[in-house]
Amino acid sequence: MSPRADRGARYRLAAERLRLYGASVPLYAAQVEAALVSVKPRDEAEAGGLAELRAAYEELGAGIDPGRVSLDLRPRTWLPALEPRRTNPTSGGAGMFERQMDVLAHVPVPPPDIAFHFVEPAYTRRGHFFDMESLGYVVLACWRHDHVVPGPRLVADPYRPSSIWLTMRVAGDGEAGVEIVNEAAPEPAAADVVLDVAISGPADRFGTGHRPRPSDLAISRGRVVAVGRDVGRARRQIDVSGLAVAPGFIDPHSHSDVVPFLAEPQPFKLLQGVTTEINGNCGFSVAPLDAARGREAAATLSGLMGNLPIEAWSFSEYLNAMAAAGPTNHLATLVGHSTLRMAVNGYERGLAGDALDQMRQLAYRAFADGAIGLSTGLIYPPGAYGDVDEIVALATVAHHHGRPYATHMRDEGAGLEQALDEAAEIATRARVRLQISHCKAAGRSNHGKSELLLRKLHAARITGVDVRGDAYPYLAGGTAMSALVPPEALENDPALEGLSDPAERGRLRSIAEDAARTTGTGLWRDTVPQAVCIMKHTRSDIVGRTLADVASDRDPWDVACELIRTDPSSQIVITMMAEDDVRRILADPLIGIGSDNGVPTGLEHPRTWGCFPHFLGRYVRELRVVDWPEAIRKMTSAPAGQFGLSGRGWLGVGAIADICVFDPATVGHAGTYQQPDVAPTGLPYVLLEGHVVVDSGDFTAERRGRVLRAEGDATSFG
Ligand SMILES: [Zn+2]
Repeated sequence: MSPRADRGARYRLAAERLRLYGASVPLYAAQVEAALVSVKPRDEAEAGGLAELRAAYEELGAGIDPGRVSLDLRPRTWLPALEPRRTNPTSGGAGMFERQMDVLAHVPVPPPDIAFHFVEPAYTRRGHFFDMESLGYVVLACWRHDHVVPGPRLVADPYRPSSIWLTMRVAGDGEAGVEIVNEAAPEPAAADVVLDVAISGPADRFGTGHRPRPSDLAISRGRVVAVGRDVGRARRQIDVSGLAVAPGFIDPHSHSDVVPFLAEPQPFKLLQGVTTEINGNCGFSVAPLDAARGREAAATLSGLMGNLPIEAWSFSEYLNAMAAAGPTNHLATLVGHSTLRMAVNGYERGLAGDALDQMRQLAYRAFADGAIGLSTGLIYPPGAYGDVDEIVALATVAHHHGRPYATHMRDEGAGLEQALDEAAEIATRARVRLQISHCKAAGRSNHGKSELLLRKLHAARITGVDVRGDAYPYLAGGTAMSALVPPEALENDPALEGLSDPAERGRLRSIAEDAARTTGTGLWRDTVPQAVCIMKHTRSDIVGRTLADVASDRDPWDVACELIRTDPSSQIVITMMAEDDVRRILADPLIGIGSDNGVPTGLEHPRTWGCFPHFLGRYVRELRVVDWPEAIRKMTSAPAGQFGLSGRGWLGVGAIADICVFDPATVGHAGTYQQPDVAPTGLPYVLLEGHVVVDSGDFTAERRGRVLRAEGDATSFG
């Protein structure tokens, strides 16, 4: 809906906001007053909206003190920051900005240049460089989703920002939205700095969603030290003429938890331009398992994760083990709810006595050790047994550490709406940022529900939930074959003996096919046997074949149960999405790109080797689902902001020099479900903290990645 289509709606929303915040936000009230005085309604709808706004304003009456803050809307006016925190249940800063922008949204003809100057520590999230583009989303929310042109912020010292300066252009009537019109003047590097790498030549440099700017970069000791023209001579000159330079991509949804332990360094993400992965998704992290049932859980997890040896590590021991093994790219890790549950309570449905307390303590220590957030996978046992209260209890621990909550929701098909409500409820009650993992509308009967999903995300955002999501650009997902059957098949029976009993199989089937149930069915009803391809199984003769093919004239349900029982860690790729839904989801500004990869050995979903270049080649260059700056923002500053990856996801002076150089004309991935492990094209250079690790398209075989530990002062454990 554009402001032009319904002018009344914007004033009704303003009235709503005024009732919510008015008395505590005199600046806002002042703008409402100005609008009431100066706006001449152009149609009945607008007149109606204004009348409602007037009513709300008069209701507030004496509570308003417009004189306390005056606003002079000349070009380059400074708007003081409004009250932080009290007004937003999740992140304070973002809500504050929303109301600043509301002010502008109600100015009939905003001046062309308005500068904001915030001196507000809430914006820095305890030293974290607050993500400019997340402010862009808030603007988006209050400007009716019509546009998004977020841009880079300008800070004097990106490591200790005490203030953020933005210069924006606000176009008349809100059509063009908010655009950065100013950027820091290019700074030459100090004369005595030895430049390790200079990236130069006419190329587009992408940052945080703004239009690309041609400029050179100089790197010294792992940081960008100069941006602009003629940045100086370096030990290594990289000519990027005709290419594009972007921050290294960040994959917020990885399952590379054990990849560093493989004997050979694994460049499968670097070759896609990905410099940082976030692991521990879908409720399963490798640690912490240093609790009562830890050893048992380690054996089960090892089965889930390619049979690589997993020990009963504490979170910190796990991170140390990864660091010692030497990751190929940077890795940050979420702590998984299923892992916490397995460590203290095994696979049982009900929680024993003080199990929740123990889980909370394990989570607390994991966050203190550097876990970057909390994850759940609410279709997989034992996480699936957790109810809202249990997850809120754990997410509240995440809140105390300022960490987000990422969820593979309880249902992505028939029960999508309830699952989204549950996620928003958890985020609201625990006051955490929310990441909806691998957003999709799964199952033939749910195609089209991408609209519902996005509508609910935007609605949640307007009510104050700092929510985003990620998605992979494919019609098929990949998961454990056991996800086909109801999660309860595994309850107290991780060996799945029950699946060999015809009566039990029949009982499970009636649940799996029960159209009236919204959760707990498994994925069986969302697919057909021809669309289930077996990727990993101890029976090598069936790998690469569909379930329908393997079943032949037998009942596919019985065959699936048998295959799951004989290899509980078997993996499938399963087609369950519609192209329209995938495109709609990828186009939405709240959605970033997450691969949901597996371990890059054997047959895997092609997303493991090609998610990011496939998105760029197919969905950006060919289908133009979004433009290039927006595509890059989805893969860089968006996840960096959500997961608090300070210094990464943007490219300017002071940024960590994780860099990806790609060719917009050729970037892509030709991998297929039958032959997925082909190298991407059009990604000639990748740098990790200034080290060239992909050089002219080839991996240098160095293990230059680091284990990233979240920092932040935890408050008391309560
Ligand atoms: Zn998942």
